[in-house]
Amino acid sequence: MIPLFEAYPRLQNSLPFISLGEFPTPVDHLENLGKKIRTPNLYIKRDDLSGVDYGGNKVRKLEFLLAEAIQKNAKEILTFGFAGSNHALATGVYAKKVGLHSTSILLSQPNARYVRRNLLLSYVNDIELHHFQSVPHCVLAIVGKMMQSFGRNKKLPHIIPPGGSNPLGAVGFVNAAFELKNQIEEGLIPEPDEIYVALGTMGTAVGLMIGVQTAGLKSRIIPVRVVDRSNASEKGLAKLYCSTAGLLHRLDPSFPLLAITPQEITIEHQYFGEQYAKFTGKGMAAVQVVQETEGISLEGTYTGKTFSALLDHASTQNFGQKTILFWDTYNSRDFSSKIQDIDYHLLPKEFHGYFESDFQPLDVNH
Ligand SMILES: *Cc1c(COP(=O)(O)O)cnc(C)c1O
Repeated sequence: MIPLFEAYPRLQNSLPFISLGEFPTPVDHLENLGKKIRTPNLYIKRDDLSGVDYGGNKVRKLEFLLAEAIQKNAKEILTFGFAGSNHALATGVYAKKVGLHSTSILLSQPNARYVRRNLLLSYVNDIELHHFQSVPHCVLAIVGKMMQSFGRNKKLPHIIPPGGSNPLGAVGFVNAAFELKNQIEEGLIPEPDEIYVALGTMGTAVGLMIGVQTAGLKSRIIPVRVVDRSNASEKGLAKLYCSTAGLLHRLDPSFPLLAITPQEITIEHQYFGEQYAKFTGKGMAAVQVVQETEGISLEGTYTGKTFSALLDHASTQNFGQKTILFWDTYNSRDFSSKIQDIDYHLLPKEFHGYFESDFQPLDVNH
């Protein structure tokens, strides 16, 4: 049974859930890097290994979101993201696994190696891809897609929001905090003082905040914003926090009714750089130091920027004996053998530009 259901058994009867990943994910001590930055109690939560078919933070959300789709007898999934979206890819990979067709409506973004990899992997996993330059174009495509799907199935497609971040998706990370609590009790990691996590569509950070509070952990969540301010704000975070906590309390009144105001939230805004998915010098330096000292591969859009906040704070605040946990949200499994023989011309032609134009500066090998 998953840790959240062990703590709140009534939720098991009311929340849709399907097991898709490999949990608990390991917690590792980053001894080499910890020594280097004078933070001996530096740890990493390996959600990069959360799934055999595709890892990263979206698997925990999909265990609830796809279970809901199955419960509602959905025939098709529709979701959204930027061209290199790990979320859209993870959704399609696991939708296929449970027998559902999925479509990704994707927006343009700065080019990077991982964009190519994710697009080719989407192709291999039979995900239907559409690319647009702007949100208004997407809206038209979404309406068209819904009508087409309705014509086929006499049923609208099941919509999963960008990043899988609605209250149900965020519950995946409430559960993750209870999983961490078990690992603390097993002596695998001291109770973290601070947990650094990337802040995109916010479901990950929100779920962890509610989870550590309810599980009685002292850990403070440090969300590091890696998307535009209009998509990740104190106000938006407070709203998702309250709606997620409200959902859990409604389904099991013994789950405490938590609430938070925007004024009580601190987001790290400084590490975003110029634009979503545009790599920063500090972010790429962080990717490099984690690779060199620990052999763990981060990337420039989410985890590198987040780790750069941790590194900055290590040098300015002096963590001393504090236990600092970095929550790794990026898939690290290598699927290159699956895509090495795929010709990008098989993708819709709107995507060919990513294979025919240069990578952005700073993209060395990530
Ligand atoms: C989606 C994603 C995030 C952001 O998580 P949110 O729940 O959307 O805030 C962080 N890291 C990676 C690698 C992701 O793909």
